[in-house]
Amino acid sequence: MIFSRRDTDTIARLRLQISQKEAVIQEQASALVHSRKIFDRSSAAARLGVWQCSLPDNALEWTDVVYDIFDLPRGSILDRSEIVKCYSEASARNLNTLRSKAIAERNGFTMDAEIITAMGNRRWIRITATVECEDAKPVRIFGIKQDITDEKITKDRTQYLAAFDVMTGLANRAQFQSKLGEFCDDYGRGDTPRALILVDLDGFKTLNDTFGHSAGDDCLRETARHLERVCTQAALIARIGGDEFAILVNENRDSVSNVARNIVRALYRPVHLEGRQVQIGASVGIAFMDGSTPSELFKKADVALYAAKAAGRNTFEISGDADDDVGHRATDAA
Ligand code: GH3
Ligand code: MG
Repeated sequence: MIFSRRDTDTIARLRLQISQKEAVIQEQASALVHSRKIFDRSSAAARLGVWQCSLPDNALEWTDVVYDIFDLPRGSILDRSEIVKCYSEASARNLNTLRSKAIAERNGFTMDAEIITAMGNRRWIRITATVECEDAKPVRIFGIKQDITDEKITKDRTQYLAAFDVMTGLANRAQFQSKLGEFCDDYGRGDTPRALILVDLDGFKTLNDTFGHSAGDDCLRETARHLERVCTQAALIARIGGDEFAILVNENRDSVSNVARNIVRALYRPVHLEGRQVQIGASVGIAFMDGSTPSELFKKADVALYAAKAAGRNTFEISGDADDDVGHRATDAA
């Protein structure tokens, strides 16, 4: 075929345009690869992946990180009904409710869910979802799934430390004070009397001095277990200081006296170590709620506790029973 000079010029111009377009495409392709690399890296670093599910057939698609979060091979075929089985019962229920509502209302949701992965790992994920519509009909639901297990563990740990005594696992002073406030606020609402029981170990300093701090710590942990065993009906058992414990109960006077007697009995024990022996015990002070403020009530129980100490220790006193100077020595009969 013979081309005229005009044709040749046109062909040359078109070739130039094609190569310029190819260069632009090449540039865009490498920009895309670069963006993809940045997305993959940040997505992996943040343990965050993208998911989408077409409606109404529920065909599910994930990016690699979502497969990793669920411990599934990347790119494997996804069956939504099988994936939902990874969610804990409560999370699956919550997910179902939020998803159906979002589809019905054509909006979205965010939730934290607990999963057990294909390899048996327990994880927490944060799901965000948006419903996409075409001609006002929902056609797709998509969003992000992020592994928030570390964040959840830190948050749970912080909450635990704010409310519990790490050594004994009992409630701590802060939780006790807040519960005591509620207890006093509720005074008069029910028929059952309410009482505050304070327990302070006798001879604890000698135990520490004789056997060391670590043996003292063991004794505190043991004391906590004894209190849990004896005070099964307590509303709260707390360690509020070194060797000081507080118990809140909803019980009548006889019953509270019994609990106190059992505490004194359970905590009266010799501790043997390296051929030496130290006698440990506990003194108990009790105050019944009478409309006093939390600090007044605490003061009353504390005064009763010191009356028990003054009566010779290893006994309990009830606030207002000041004339009863013999105390209630539980171990006399033991
Ligand atoms: P009392 O009968 O008057 O109560 O005397 P006690 O020997 O029981 O001694 P007291 O209650 O006055 O002192 C408690 C001691 O507990 C003082 C402190 O050194 C010690 N202590 C405080 N916190 C801890 C702890 O976490 N571990 C250990 N091992 N000892 C502690
Ligand atoms: Mg003490």
